[in-house]
Amino acid sequence: MTEPDTSGEWLFERPWHFLKSAPALEFLPPVDRVEVAFAGRSNVGKSSLINALLRQNGLARTSNTPGRTQELNYFLTDDVPLYLVDMPGYGFAKAPKDKVEAWTELVFDYLRGRPTLARVLLLIDSRHGLKPVDQTIMEMLDAAAVSYQVVLTKADKIKAHELNTLIESTARSLKSHAAAFPEVIATSSEKGTGIAELRAAIATILAERS
Ligand code: GDP
Repeated sequence: MTEPDTSGEWLFERPWHFLKSAPALEFLPPVDRVEVAFAGRSNVGKSSLINALLRQNGLARTSNTPGRTQELNYFLTDDVPLYLVDMPGYGFAKAPKDKVEAWTELVFDYLRGRPTLARVLLLIDSRHGLKPVDQTIMEMLDAAAVSYQVVLTKADKIKAHELNTLIESTARSLKSHAAAFPEVIATSSEKGTGIAELRAAIATILAERS
């Protein structure tokens, strides 16, 4: 085998496809590939980021409606042992209680029971920073011992010095979380900022785990 290319561009020049939506663990694909999952509050910019990453508008669809499908959406590209997983958004203020419970059960089962899950990319809106609901998810990830990394979204919405302060304060908060990856990536799907860095991070995870 040749040396793995961890710039990430090779991985995202390829066409990516939607594989399936899994509403429960029994519908997940076989554990035959490394998985990198995207999590974040509803409206954090998760669909926009996945579409920017994969260069395919419309592949990941936004689900802002409270109570809409709570599913894990799987994406793959041919001949590469990697799944990208779009996790259902959380923290929708008006979500009915049974939907919140369904979300928690699905996500917790997934985090605890998926041995090939290499990292969760935890998306945080640059305008808001870490909210209590994000802290709850981080505690869940710590408890499940799943490695996770904070990715700031919509970086174009705040000033450069505010972004630097946010990166520093977020990195400081992460120090008290056992499973958190120390490095924070700042992105803007709109401007393309940080997308190459995120691609490289995913390629590195793949190279390390496969
Ligand atoms: P999701 O619910 O997490 O999938 O979020 P979406 O990707 O649907 O984005 C929510 C809203 O934020 C939409 O109105 C997007 O246009 C906007 N948005 C997403 N990413 C960015 C970004 O990088 N910059 C700006 N300015 N707006 C963004």
